[in-house]
Amino acid sequence: MFKLIVKKEFSSAHILHGHPGDCKRMHGHNWIVEAKVEGDNINKIGMVIDFKDIKKNLADIVSKLDHRFLNEIEPFIENNPTAENISKYIYKELSKNINTDNIKVSEIKLWETNNSAVIYTE
Ligand SMILES: [Zn+2]
Repeated sequence: MFKLIVKKEFSSAHILHGHPGDCKRMHGHNWIVEAKVEGDNINKIGMVIDFKDIKKNLADIVSKLDHRFLNEIEPFIENNPTAENISKYIYKELSKNINTDNIKVSEIKLWETNNSAVIYTE
């Protein structure tokens, strides 16, 4: 089993409705997302998948969130844009584009601050 990891940063603002503390007020984060992709098989040049393919797909997803107020963007109009919900969203979107019979997005780790991250897996 091979596990490939690609990292990408983005910045966005959010409000967490129902939060008892400061997070109910608008504030921003410099998020770091780490996408882990797994596969058992390598192709004839020795790769599971080109890092570039993962990076491009991750960049496309992240570009929709970067420098935005997340509460105004689907699916976060209804679902609070918590690190949990954002990591799940990125997982689902990236899986649509990356997954094949041999390759699977296995984990999204989303760092909200230097010290706090959420991991979403299925
Ligand atoms: Zn926050």
